[in-house]
Amino acid sequence: MSQSLAIHWFRRDMRVEDNTALFHALQSGQSVLGLFIFDSTILSKLEDRDDARLSFIHLHVQRLKSQFEALGGSLLVLHGDPVGLWPQILSDYPVAAVYTNRDYEPYARQRDGVLNKLFESKGVAFNHYKDHVILEAKEVLKDDGLPYTVFTPYSRKWKAKLQVQDLEPRGSADLFTADRLHQTTPLPLPTLEALGFAPTAIDFPKEAVSDALIKVYDEQRNFPGIRGTSRLGVHLRFGTISIRALARRAKALNETFLNELIWRDFYQVILWHFPHAASGSFRPAYDQIEWRNNEAEFAKWCAGQTGYPIVDAGMRELNSTGFMHNRVRMIVASFLTKHLLIDWRWGEAYFARKLLDFDLASNNGGWQWAAGSGCDAAPYFRVFSPDAQTLKFDPKASYIRQWVPEYQNLDYRPMVDHKMARERALATYGKALKA
Ligand SMILES: Cc1cc2nc3c(=O)[nH]c(=O)nc-3n(C[C@H](O)[C@H](O)[C@H](O)COP(=O)(O)OP(=O)(O)OC[C@H]3O[C@@H](n4cnc5c(N)ncnc54)[C@H](O)[C@@H]3O)c2cc1C
Repeated sequence: MSQSLAIHWFRRDMRVEDNTALFHALQSGQSVLGLFIFDSTILSKLEDRDDARLSFIHLHVQRLKSQFEALGGSLLVLHGDPVGLWPQILSDYPVAAVYTNRDYEPYARQRDGVLNKLFESKGVAFNHYKDHVILEAKEVLKDDGLPYTVFTPYSRKWKAKLQVQDLEPRGSADLFTADRLHQTTPLPLPTLEALGFAPTAIDFPKEAVSDALIKVYDEQRNFPGIRGTSRLGVHLRFGTISIRALARRAKALNETFLNELIWRDFYQVILWHFPHAASGSFRPAYDQIEWRNNEAEFAKWCAGQTGYPIVDAGMRELNSTGFMHNRVRMIVASFLTKHLLIDWRWGEAYFARKLLDFDLASNNGGWQWAAGSGCDAAPYFRVFSPDAQTLKFDPKASYIRQWVPEYQNLDYRPMVDHKMARERALATYGKALKA
């Protein structure tokens, strides 16, 4: 065997087209073998056997494998701890270089740091690229070199820094050819069951969004009763579509839609610069809040049994589809942290368990925004009224009727009075922040 094998390690980039690291691997002159690792460190933390993300990933691993095999190549699919598996991979294959796209989560950074040392010690090149975001943490800094913590100036600088090539596709489909792939017999793929999981009953959102939807995104995106948002979150999370391709269309068609994609970069950047926010408040004073943390009340919130129709509709949508509209995410998060005074981390963890598009950076950012503890957060004294939000964003109750058909029954009652809860939240927050 020649010493010229390049491994492309798929992580958050589960596609063969417009994939930065794969493009460089295919151009390297070495024959390319694909790799995907079902990471046991991540899998062991999943609570549900029918976790929908696992089914989604499994499906896309199968798709990648078929794409490699159609050209005589294959995808090596393993299950275990990547740090433990890599020495074996390096002894099984004559690997000259490893290609991968960067993942910015604290766990991934730590894992890649350890592997970097292993590759160095074995003389294997470790080539990693920007692909998951449009602009990385170090590309958008304030004039004094410090990171932004407020979105609007960040997005202004982001737009000023953006170059045409930042959005261009990386390579073209005709690079993915048999002569560039490591030719081998098909390699085995563990079943979901062998990984300890079962198929989900949830349907996955389509991989595409129409120009027509993007064009009116700014007018329709706030109304949960309308199909006014792309539902591409899960595809961006796992890289089954290219962020560059979507941002090109956003730039041409609708600035508000582009701004939402910039929010995505922004939260990645915040987590990169301020990793403490992954486990505690971005603003430490908020860690002083005396949460009530009532478990029975939390269970009602999770089940969509709060007696507030918009909150219950959101939680029921989440529980049965793995999706919740952004406006409703803000309302249910505000309700949990302010009306019930339950630690935002409980809500964050529940979303992390249920959301198809779960992403540590955006989820954490969204929760801290709602709790008031985050960067660029709403001031704590602004407490969403679920009823006022409903009048504004679901005035005909079309969304509510879909999920809470009993909302007009006499025995459907709020679990907590809005006025009392609002005053209690203001007093509790006020006490913590003055202390
Ligand atoms: C409490 C809370 C938790 C959240 N958790 C997540 C999460 O785990 N993963 C996640 O991707 N988003 C999260 N969001 C942001 C947002 O709600 C979702 O990205 C959006 O609802 C996904 O639906 P869509 O794909 O139809 O989005 P669209 O409105 O069509 O937007 C397109 C894409 O832009 C990005 N985007 C849009 N809004 C935001 C935002 N506010 N912050 C960051 N990125 C954004 C997403 O990648 C999204 O898919 C959260 C928001 C809140 C308030």
